[in-house]
Amino acid sequence: MDCIFCKIVSGEIPSAKVYEDDTVVAFNDLEPQAPVHVLIIPKTHITSMADINEENSGVVAHIFEVAAIIAKEKGLDDGFRVVSNCGDSAGQSVKHLHFHLMGGRTFGWPAG
Ligand code: 5GP
Ligand code: ZN
Repeated sequence: MDCIFCKIVSGEIPSAKVYEDDTVVAFNDLEPQAPVHVLIIPKTHITSMADINEENSGVVAHIFEVAAIIAKEKGLDDGFRVVSNCGDSAGQSVKHLHFHLMGGRTFGWPAG
């Protein structure tokens, strides 16, 4: 499958990994929007949050455990943001489920 993030999982495309285990990998975003900007993804190809169901939701729970671990490791004690853009109108540019873990600055709401 021609998917950038599957290629990052396989190592075909290099990335700066900050965490990896059997089911997920986390790496620095190529164009960081905050001092800490990590992408956490499942190793299996899931297109977006719209494809989460009873069978595969466990990996999403695990991704949130990993987000908390990375946030602690990165010293984001003041707070952080976790975002998953789902679909074109939300601005999802890579069609492999991913969660942006961002911190190290203050954020506006709902954007910025
Ligand atoms: P989206 O726009 O789909 O929510 O987020 C996709 C993110 O992936 C963007 O923040 C973009 O900078 C990042 N990205 C796209 N291609 C690559 C890549 O090859 N390597 C890394 N590390 N990040 C990428
Ligand atoms: Zn993929």
